[in-house]
Order: sequence, then C-alpha cells, then structure tokens
Amino acid sequence: MFKPISLLLLGLLLLSCSGAKDEASSTSPNILLFFVDDMGWQDTSVPFWKEETAFNRLYKTPNMERLARQGMKFTQAYATPVCSPTRVSLMTGMNAARHRVTNWTLHKDRLQPMETGHKNLQFPHWNVNGLSPDSTIQHAAYAKPYPMILQEAGYHTIHVGKAHFGAIGTPGEDPLNVGFDVNIAGHAAGAPKSYYGTENFGNTTAFQNSPWPVPDLDKYHGDSIYLTEALKNEAIEALRTPVSNGQPFFLYMALYAVHTPIMADPRFVEPYLEMGLDTIEAWYASMVASMDKCLGDLMDFLQEKAIVDNTIILFMSDNGGLSALARGGEPHTHNKPLSSGKGSIHEGGIREPMLVKWPGVTKPESENDNYLIIEDFYPTILEMAGISDYETPQKIDGKSFVDLIKHPASQDQNRPLYWHYPNEWGPTGPGIGAFSAVRKGDWKLIYYHEEEDFELFNIKEDLGETQNLAATETSKLEELARELSNYLKEVDAQMPAHRESKEQVAWPIDRISPAIN
Ligand code: CA
Repeated sequence: MFKPISLLLLGLLLLSCSGAKDEASSTSPNILLFFVDDMGWQDTSVPFWKEETAFNRLYKTPNMERLARQGMKFTQAYATPVCSPTRVSLMTGMNAARHRVTNWTLHKDRLQPMETGHKNLQFPHWNVNGLSPDSTIQHAAYAKPYPMILQEAGYHTIHVGKAHFGAIGTPGEDPLNVGFDVNIAGHAAGAPKSYYGTENFGNTTAFQNSPWPVPDLDKYHGDSIYLTEALKNEAIEALRTPVSNGQPFFLYMALYAVHTPIMADPRFVEPYLEMGLDTIEAWYASMVASMDKCLGDLMDFLQEKAIVDNTIILFMSDNGGLSALARGGEPHTHNKPLSSGKGSIHEGGIREPMLVKWPGVTKPESENDNYLIIEDFYPTILEMAGISDYETPQKIDGKSFVDLIKHPASQDQNRPLYWHYPNEWGPTGPGIGAFSAVRKGDWKLIYYHEEEDFELFNIKEDLGETQNLAATETSKLEELARELSNYLKEVDAQMPAHRESKEQVAWPIDRISPAIN
C-alpha cells in the first residue's frame, strides 16, 4: 500500500509527464533535413524510376545509395518549379496558391524585372517579400514556421546554407527570425556568387554591394575549399553543442549546390572530364558528387557520435533539375524520362529525389510510390518530433506523411495536389509559363494562363507528358478543371490579367463550360 508521500510523488510525476507531453527530451529524435537546391530526379545513381537510366549510370552518389539502402525511397515526391515558393511552403506548410510567394524573392516590395514588361500578361502583386514571422510586413506570407515550434519544444535548431525565403530588409531574410538558434550562411539570396574559397565565395570589392556573396564563411576566405565542404564543416561544428549536451537537434542542411553558377568541384571533376562528357555537364556532375560527399560525411558523424539510431534523415530537393539554360547539351532533356526541368510544371520541374530514414520505422531499402508535396514536410516533421499540440496563425495545407511511411502500400488516389504560378520565370520551354495545375490519382491537368488552354496527362501511362488528352478525355478535363477552380477560389488565389483587355485570366472551369458557371 502506498504511503501518502508516495501518492503525492506519484501525482507530481504524472502531472509533470502529462504537462510535458510535447516537450523535447533526450529521447526525442534528432532530425536532419538534407535539402539540395535545383537537384533533378535523375541527378543520382539511385534510380527513382522503375528502371535504371543513363543518368543513374552517369552520376555517382554512393551516399544517397547508402541512405536508400537504410531507408525509404519516395518515387513521386513533388515541390514547386522554383526556389522560394517551395521554401516558403516547406517553412509554413501552406500551398503556394495560399501563401502567395509564388515566384522567387530577392528585393523588398519589388516584382521581378521579367514580370514588369511581359507582352501579354499583367502579373498580380504577389508576396514578393516572402515569408514573415511578423504580421505587419506588407506583401509577405505571415506564418509561424515549424522550426519555431521545434525550438519552443526544446530542440536546438540549426540552419546551414541557403535560406531564400524572405526579401532583403525584411525579418524573413534571416533564419534567426524564423526559429533557428544558429544560422550559417543563410540570407535573402538564392545563389552563391562563387563556390570557391579562393574567391572568398564572391566576397570581393567588386561585389561588395551585390546580394550574391555568401555570408559568414570568412575563415575560409582564400582557402582552396569548395562551398559545400565549408558548409559541411560548419554544420558538424554546430552539431557538437547539442550532441554533447544530449539536446535533440534539428539540422536544416540547405545546400547552395547544385544551383548555378555551375562551377566544378576540383575533387570530383576529373573522371567526368576524362569520360568525354560535355565540360559544363562534367562540372555539374562534380557538384552532384560533392553534395553526396557532404551527405556521407554527415552520416559518418552521426555514426561516430553513436546517435545514428536516434536521428531521422530526410533528403529532398526544392525544384527540378535546371535544363532550360546554362546546361550543356540539348535544353529540356536533363531530367529524362521526365519532360523539361526547373521552372516548368511538367514533371521535370517538380518531381524530386526524396529519401527518408527513420530508424525503427522505415523499412530498410523500401520504396513508396505515394505522391506527396513539399508543404507536407511541415506537419510530418512536427509529428516525427512527437509534437502535436501547436497553434499557427496560418492554415496548413500540408498533410503528414507519417502514415504513408508506416503503411507504404496504402494508396490515396483521391487526394488532389495543387500548383499555382501566376508569374513569369524568364526562359521558355515545355510547361514553362504562368499556370495553375492539379494532380489527382494518375491524372494531371495544367491550365496555362496566357493562352487559357489546357494540357491533360495520364502520368502513370505517360510519365514523359507526350500525349495531351485534353481534347479527348473531356469528362476528366471538366472534373479536374472544376476541382482546380474551386480550390483557387477557396484560397483566394491571385490571377494575372490580360494586358490588352485588362480582364482577369478566366478560372479554368469557365473555359470549359461558361454557360453553366
Ligand atoms: Ca531551387
């Protein structure tokens, strides 16, 4: 029988347990989100398609192979076609149509130059200032980013690399304002001026007023070190504090690579040059190899510190591989069998290489063919951290994929995924231009704003998007156009206007059955 004092102690113990249910503890998993910039679905030796491709044989990513062997490969993971919309969706859990940071950000309050002089379209004033944790910032998506929630729950949160979710001179440009305890090299810009330490990563007098030089890495200036390697060294240094304190950490390892400027990593380029590859492609392949080495070094560190069994690793890229410009060889072919690349709503622009290793949960060397989208990472990461009790000012569109991880065979064919880009990217090519789109089941409908016209593809049967079925599959066209229109109206999505008539671009459904709508 308990003595009164024991009952009191028991009561206190229960109280403290229930009160602390969402607090991070030494048993909370560490989370490493390894986020690559502009890496395509085929830029790896891990095959994400049903068969191995020439690209899988070209690129050497042994550490991605290692991660795939230890974890789960997602074959239909989506992002948006350009950087900032993806990064804001990742940080806020909102779909781009809702958060309105629909194009890439840089300067405060300013539309991109390519958007101000378009010959046929007048673009809306989208949220050019990006993500903001402060509700008073105009033209910004006000939200509570999930790193803030992790931080409040006791996680040590570390940002390394490219941020690119807030414009210059706004709170969102600095990762320290969105829930990170540590920020190394993250700021408003979405690309580095240089990958070379010998060039001070662009920090020279000639570029002192430019947004592109990489901040914070002064100690490497003048050294022959590649940017990806310097970021990896800094990440490991930053991890030592939480690892030695036994505090759970969230490391957002957001590489600048493999974004332009395409600059060879001298450690890896020779074999690609020797095989006679186009020079730019050899440089690019060396950047991929360098990214992979960074992943491997971080995995080694976790092993060395004996925290590998309590660390979840998520691998993802922010948009498709660049193909419309700046690459060697024929444009729009660098993500084959997918069509097009970065900037495009075709699969090459949005389908990403994604891996998840969750010790004790993901089955080693498993595959998951369910589709998901970048905003899903928000609720997923919080669920992985054991945090369920949180409030946000924003409505979260993302759906946790924890259940999909636990039950990979389940297939939800009814969930619609949406993309919305009432903007201009610049280059031209398949699937590039202002658009709205929906994927549901095997089908994908794309609505191009300028032409007010459709492409309808059966993604399962025609992954390369070669057969536009809009003229023949009319009931599917109407069903998806209605669903897409309803969603866009529900989230109050911005649409461009036609420059000449000044009329707003019609909702997709109104282009099909104007009489009944
Ligand atoms: Ca990108």
